[in-house]
Amino acid sequence: MSKTRKDAPADETAKNAQLLIKAGFIHKEMAGVYAYLPLGLKVVENIKQIVREEMNAIGGQELIMTGLQAQELWLSTDRWDDELVDIWFKTKLKNGADVGLAWSHEEPITNMMKNHVSSYRDLPSYVYQFQTKMRNETRAKSGIMRCREFVMKDLYSYSLTEKDHNKYYQKVMTCYHKIFERVGLDHITYPTFASGGAFTQFSHEFQTICDAGEDIIYVDEAKNIAINKEVFTDEVIAQLGLNKTDLVEKKAAEVGNIFSFGSTKSEQLGLYFDDKDGSQKPVILGSYGIGVTRLMGVIVEAFSDEKGIVWPENIAPYKVYLAALGEDAEVTEAANNLYDKLEAAGISVLYDDLEAHPGEKLNDADLIGLPYRVVVSKKTVSEGKVELKARNSEETTLVSADELLAKLKV
Ligand code: ATP
Ligand code: MG
Repeated sequence: MSKTRKDAPADETAKNAQLLIKAGFIHKEMAGVYAYLPLGLKVVENIKQIVREEMNAIGGQELIMTGLQAQELWLSTDRWDDELVDIWFKTKLKNGADVGLAWSHEEPITNMMKNHVSSYRDLPSYVYQFQTKMRNETRAKSGIMRCREFVMKDLYSYSLTEKDHNKYYQKVMTCYHKIFERVGLDHITYPTFASGGAFTQFSHEFQTICDAGEDIIYVDEAKNIAINKEVFTDEVIAQLGLNKTDLVEKKAAEVGNIFSFGSTKSEQLGLYFDDKDGSQKPVILGSYGIGVTRLMGVIVEAFSDEKGIVWPENIAPYKVYLAALGEDAEVTEAANNLYDKLEAAGISVLYDDLEAHPGEKLNDADLIGLPYRVVVSKKTVSEGKVELKARNSEETTLVSADELLAKLKV
């Protein structure tokens, strides 16, 4: 087990990063740049796995694109321009050629698709990746919620027709609800009308109510929908059939964003297909992001108390925190045996085998926030039992090893 810390760096003001640093999940390299330690990586992987399963369920095929990007592709769509895209990190090859560090992937994926799409038979195609994005953000004060280097899931849909595209777009909306439900946030996450591109009037963001969020949204609870402040006008409210009096202002964090690009990018980059009637048509593009590491930060913001993090069970890096209190040989042996038993039963355990005072171990258990805490002490051993406590409850119970297994196995 890695060590916890008494304090987070003095310049770290965000609750999510303070807790994650103290509990040993992440390491702050510099402002907006964090490393993921063994515990943190497990959380990232758990979130990714949920997203991956839901992406696969709607026909997504996983791939991974490059972090270095050719300038020419972005020149052909105007998005190399620093005025238009103000978060580029750019660098040069030894021969002087400009390259960009990936902040998004519409251009490279669309260009690559030219090798795979030539006929209507090759479509639709849905590809996604988990990729480290680099963005030269002006401010990075929200811990892992706004980073200069972060993990994003980005899905790209290539469709034959506008109609097919719209159908798939709706499918992704439903899929996103499932994802946010599985990570425990659906009850505070709203599909939100936000500014669109040249092609559609709106894009859809998924916004999670969160005090540490950087967005302001107006929520219609009953209709389970919201409008981002950036497009919040009387005209838009009326257009969406909403009522100003039903809308409540909230702070929120954008955890996902889905976007229609129409055929513009395909036309700029030359991605066409031969249709049934022999005519050539540009492919319709949709782009669908989820901020995987931002989502982790939002989960910490949403699920924590004054003692530490309270991980939802399917996100937690382990199910059980096991601590042996005291140096007694009998206690150590009982705890070792219990650890083996739990592992053998397929229950994941973080075994606190560090030398520390009992009080510190119990504090660490609360800080790290695994769903269950199991304590073996001289007292529990003398009764042939262990002490069980759920992180989200104050109640402790004494149970036998078999009772514990039966309870945790479900
Ligand atoms: P924002 O409005 O918060 O700057 P964006 O609109 O630029 O985000 P997209 O380009 O749509 O974001 O990226 C897809 C998703 O990636 C976002 O919905 C968000 O969850 C996440 N994301 C974007 N920027 C960052 C960042 N700097 N750090 C962490 N996650 C981010
Ligand atoms: Mg946005």
